[in-house]
Amino acid sequence: MESEKSRNGVNHFENIACPFCGIACDDLEIGPSASGSLKVLKNGCARSVAGFGRPLVEPNPEVDGKSVSLEEAVATAAKLIRESRLPVFSGLGTGVEGVRAVMALAEAGGGVVDHALSVSAYRNTRVMQSSGWLTTSLTEARNRADLFIIAGSDIHKSNPRFFERVVCNEASMFSDNPPKRTVVFLGEGLDPSAATGPRVGEVVTIPCKTDRVGEILDAMRAIQKGAIITDETIGGVPRATVEDLFARFKAASYSVVVWNPASFDFAGGDLTVQAICEFIKEANATTRSAGLALGGNEGLPSAVSVCAWQSGYPLRVSYANGKPEYDADLYDAERMLAAKESDLLVWLASIGDDLVPPETDVTTIVLGTPGLKLSRKPKVFIPVGTPGVDHAERVIRVDNVVSLPLRQLRQSKLPSAMDVLASIQAAL
Ligand code: SF4
Repeated sequence: MESEKSRNGVNHFENIACPFCGIACDDLEIGPSASGSLKVLKNGCARSVAGFGRPLVEPNPEVDGKSVSLEEAVATAAKLIRESRLPVFSGLGTGVEGVRAVMALAEAGGGVVDHALSVSAYRNTRVMQSSGWLTTSLTEARNRADLFIIAGSDIHKSNPRFFERVVCNEASMFSDNPPKRTVVFLGEGLDPSAATGPRVGEVVTIPCKTDRVGEILDAMRAIQKGAIITDETIGGVPRATVEDLFARFKAASYSVVVWNPASFDFAGGDLTVQAICEFIKEANATTRSAGLALGGNEGLPSAVSVCAWQSGYPLRVSYANGKPEYDADLYDAERMLAAKESDLLVWLASIGDDLVPPETDVTTIVLGTPGLKLSRKPKVFIPVGTPGVDHAERVIRVDNVVSLPLRQLRQSKLPSAMDVLASIQAAL
């Protein structure tokens, strides 16, 4: 449970959940900074320190670059949506309630819903849809795994405290004296520095081009089936090294393969996810192994889950015909904007300052953080608060097994995205 106590008359928060990446650490200690802003006192990382430490600025909304009241901005946004032929609602950097509000507005306004990071998420989704997968949770991996394979992804950058929280933890739920873990870094330029501490045994680095990680998993799948590979190298890696990796898999009692689909940004990147997942599925005939897909930043897991609950489909859903219609290619927001199939973009970015809309000359409404790094002025800009900082919310964690409550930590006049979206819907 989060708690609050007063230090020198100023609120001090413990066990706070962080919205700034997909693993949603829930152990942060936060207090006031000298400048009156927030400061991570304990259990943070560089990203959370920067996120919570953003100064509180409360600018007015703008229409055509001119300062207006919130009511005027809402009325203008509602008019634009009402008159739009096919609005696209994207970005979706928000929590559960924010996505609920976007879905409701898209339904009322007859629009399309897609997240800014769907391109990478779809490398996972396509595999889940076509051949299925066997994945684990952060908690299960933290407590049970004795072998971690970090496959082609610099997890330390996308989810900075993953190693601290899940790999290097000294205690385990199931043992007073848990065994040491082996951590294998399979990929290109991966940073192994966070795999450290008494719980970590061997750290193995296998340099390999990112787009060849799938070949190695496919080869191990073949070896698993009894095939004999005679090539000297596999995916650019010496065969003996791959055989050694396979032997480690077989010897482990619970292996976990970790990846971030954002890393597989090349043609057929989803095939790397598929190679990982097929190997894992077949390995479970004789041992225990699971996948763990990370990333999930900018509220992506919340958007994926809420879209499924509300529409029955994954993201990339259209309400243009009055009922939810799903098409992973047709309702790709970036493609639609490039093809001028939409005449209005409604962009939501309430978590990070970097989640900017794609380059487009389509009329744009932005509900964003006051510091959002926009390259041009949108038609309407409504500054909104950040969930877990300026208002309470709820986020789905990247492993999709829990939702975590986010607290309001400071007094802010910035409205929440959900309130602004509800007001726009009421004014349609
Ligand atoms: S690792 Fe992610 S969730 Fe954890 S404190 Fe850092 S930014 Fe927040």
